[in-house]
Amino acid sequence: MHPVSQENIYVGEVANGLPLTIPVYRLKGNGTGKSVYIQANMHGAEVQGNAVIYQLLEQLQTLELNGDITLVPYANPIGCNQKSGEFTLGRFDPITGVNWNRMYHYDSQLPKLMAEQCAHLSSGEIRNTFQHALIASIDAQLEAPAHTLSTGKRIALQLQQLAHQADIVLDLHTGPISTQHLYCPEYARASAKYFNIANVLLIPNEFDGALDEAAFCPWWQLKAQLNALDCAFEVPVEAFTVELGSQERIDLSAAKDDADNILTYLNYQGVLQDAPFYPKEMTRYGCMLSDYKTYYAPMGGMVEYLAPLGEPIAAGTPIANILRMERYLSETPLHTLCADSDAIAILHFASASVNQGTELYKFFTNTFEL
Ligand SMILES: [Zn+2]
Repeated sequence: MHPVSQENIYVGEVANGLPLTIPVYRLKGNGTGKSVYIQANMHGAEVQGNAVIYQLLEQLQTLELNGDITLVPYANPIGCNQKSGEFTLGRFDPITGVNWNRMYHYDSQLPKLMAEQCAHLSSGEIRNTFQHALIASIDAQLEAPAHTLSTGKRIALQLQQLAHQADIVLDLHTGPISTQHLYCPEYARASAKYFNIANVLLIPNEFDGALDEAAFCPWWQLKAQLNALDCAFEVPVEAFTVELGSQERIDLSAAKDDADNILTYLNYQGVLQDAPFYPKEMTRYGCMLSDYKTYYAPMGGMVEYLAPLGEPIAAGTPIANILRMERYLSETPLHTLCADSDAIAILHFASASVNQGTELYKFFTNTFEL
């Protein structure tokens, strides 16, 4: 069995002075392959990634590894404990309202500065120099006086420091009620077919605070800056947000499939040695981020969700019934909403009662086969 080590990293303190810690599991490869960082549960209700990490650990111990693998369940020790009645909240810091997955760090000046300093070096030297610079910029913030960091920022920086040490970064999330989908940077489009995930969102080189972006945007920007200086350089890092399905749900058999799916991608990347994981033949649909449309509830009411998730539907297909019983005698109490274009429903709101303007669905539109 391949040995696994555990370290609990300290990421802050709660009001009674007790430490906030996150478990970090590590498996060492033979040093010839890419290194991997996988975290789960940054959003409190999105628990399935912890089960996927369990299934990954069970399998990775039996495999030969070329690269080092770091696995971090319970990445947000506040989020998964943020309950209200029966439900887990944990998408936003309850004090500031900021999304927990929008607090990672990006120094937008660093790629340009480093490109100017490094353009004469080899790709390998540029890679090492820039990776050190990224880690140093995180260290500098963590070493600053404690009063300069918010709770969420401190957690994010600790995780980002681990992520920057890897060549491959996977952030495991779920939607509210959702089909599996993958956030994939446009430059890594060819890698998307090594995940057995039918719906792939292609995202541009824009930093919006999330971990996947924090991992790849600096490198993508560095490549652009170097290429502008006539220096050939390819992005050496791939980072994805893997949306596993619905929140508030642990399914160990689905988690085994999800783990196999991740192992298939890692096998393609040469992280595993002689491992029997190959991509499935399946139709994969791509959608540009600008074509990922939010459909807000056009009226308040009680919702029956009708759109099948993850499958193409035609314009005009009914997607929801909205029931408004306060006007049963005065007007029609039942309204049917229909898709206004061809689309794939990816996720919908988790509750059946909605205000006018609640985010009801998210749809891929203008899809294409990958
Ligand atoms: Zn999430």
